[in-house]
Amino acid sequence: MLKVDVRDLAAGPVETTGRLEPDDAVFQGLGLPLVGPVDVSGQLLATGTEDYLWRGHLRGRLQVECRRCLADVILPLDTGVDVMFSADPDAADDPSVYPMAAPVTHVDVATAVREEIAFAVPSFVLCREDCKGLCQRCGADLNAGPCSCTVAAEPV
Ligand SMILES: [Zn+2]
Ligand SMILES: [Zn+2]
Repeated sequence: MLKVDVRDLAAGPVETTGRLEPDDAVFQGLGLPLVGPVDVSGQLLATGTEDYLWRGHLRGRLQVECRRCLADVILPLDTGVDVMFSADPDAADDPSVYPMAAPVTHVDVATAVREEIAFAVPSFVLCREDCKGLCQRCGADLNAGPCSCTVAAEPV
């Protein structure tokens, strides 16, 4: 379960385990490059009155484009997250805190999962360290070998 009844937290930390499919409503409209489901694990605990700490772990796969040759690159998503949820108005200005509306009855860690995945998507990815990219003139994939325009441009 990724949605925890806060009354259960009075007795101690609660395990958060679940699987979110890429078409889950929680991901809608974000355009996250998920390949297959995201497995979520972790523990949620109350750290104060209406303050909750979630120590979670996300596992899945992302599909992104190589910045040089635009080939699809599959990356493992395997990341730990530390997330604070709080209904304390004083914490509302803290960008690292997920604000909640008081009175809190449930903490749904899935709302944090989508944000944390968005942060985890790298902005610069190469299919391999020495990717040669595409020819700027003809668009050929130079990893497959030189294109005819580079050959022509070479001094004889
Ligand atoms: Zn590439
Ligand atoms: Zn070319």
